[in-house]
Amino acid sequence: MTPYQTTNHYLEQGFELLKLDERYKTLLITPSRELRVELIIEKDDGTIGNFIGYRVQHDNSRGPFKGGLRYHPEVDVDEVRSLASLMTWKTAIVNIPYGGAKGGIQVSPRELTPRELEQLTRKFIDQIGEFIGPQTDIPAPDVNTNAQIMSWMFDQYSKRYGFSPGVITGKPVELYGSLGRDAATGRGCLFAIREVYKHKGESLKDKTFIIQGFGNVGSWLARLLMDEGAKVLAVSDIKGGIFNGDGLDIDKVFQHAKETGSVVEFAGSEPISNEDILTTECDVLTPAALGHVLTSKNANDVKAKYVLEAANGPCTAEADAILNRRGIVAIPDIFANAGGVTVSYYEWVQNNQFLRWTEDEVNKRLEETMVKAHKGLAAAMDEWSCSMRTAAFALAIQRVKEATDLRGLG
Ligand code: GLU
Repeated sequence: MTPYQTTNHYLEQGFELLKLDERYKTLLITPSRELRVELIIEKDDGTIGNFIGYRVQHDNSRGPFKGGLRYHPEVDVDEVRSLASLMTWKTAIVNIPYGGAKGGIQVSPRELTPRELEQLTRKFIDQIGEFIGPQTDIPAPDVNTNAQIMSWMFDQYSKRYGFSPGVITGKPVELYGSLGRDAATGRGCLFAIREVYKHKGESLKDKTFIIQGFGNVGSWLARLLMDEGAKVLAVSDIKGGIFNGDGLDIDKVFQHAKETGSVVEFAGSEPISNEDILTTECDVLTPAALGHVLTSKNANDVKAKYVLEAANGPCTAEADAILNRRGIVAIPDIFANAGGVTVSYYEWVQNNQFLRWTEDEVNKRLEETMVKAHKGLAAAMDEWSCSMRTAAFALAIQRVKEATDLRGLG
């Protein structure tokens, strides 16, 4: 199954559970609008670079389209459709007033110079500008995009449409960004797993974690886990992984990664391959990078109690079924990593009012939102006796359906 088919498969499970009329499948599954744009830049060596960008707007019945933009060689329309749809259900699970969208450029940003990257980013906004806006569609960072890229987007959009800080979230704190946004996805993951354990009467203390991916989300989650007394046994990035059975000193790993550009060769660790890291024993396996890393090939070998989906779509449908059968609980992406878009919402609220909240205020609100979302999910799992993923999709479908019904077809 492709990523989009996988997401639709989960939606079908939700529809089945809710016994919804066929008409809702037509209304809720397919995207509302898909943009495919050509981006032409002049490279530093004088040659022409030609890239393809996408923005897929899935559903806006609960509010403006919302979702990140990723820069990656594997970005394609099927993946973007899947990710856009996931945003619709994610914003519904945490109950923030948005719909879902996603976009990206098929490019390896490492192969571009900073000037080329800026030019490409500005061209992208020129091409999608008339379809986004603070009240229509609000992009944000995702894989390989960051606060600097959001600054260029904000600037480019504002040149043509007037000063609009609310058109993009994930901006730097110095340029209308929110305190706490950088850590928000990792912090949200921490609250998600903390609440899952709390529900069983347990804490995170001494729980063992493995984190695949040490980018913004994985590295923040790892650092925050240290404060809870949990142990991170292994982490990885594209160059490889590192393992220490007694737990890694994450602050030092972070420092090492910052200085050398990778976690590999960290003193006080053994190397571990990117395949083996997914099947090493731990309490919580956390994929925090790209989609479809747990498949029918390795899901039978996962030796964790929980899979915390910090990444979007890390399990194939086959892997999800295998994990379910083996009693391994997948904490679904649309709940687990919703902290990022939640604080994006807080950033947008602050932008709309031209004020700034303290970091404590942002973190406190994020915690309340994640705790409440978990309560809703736990109650839904009890009521429907289903997996956390099916409960999450069904709950989200109910909310989007209600908004769709109330608005009518027009
Ligand atoms: N890219 C993040 C996600 O997948 C954040 C999206 C946003 O803040 O709009 O949830």
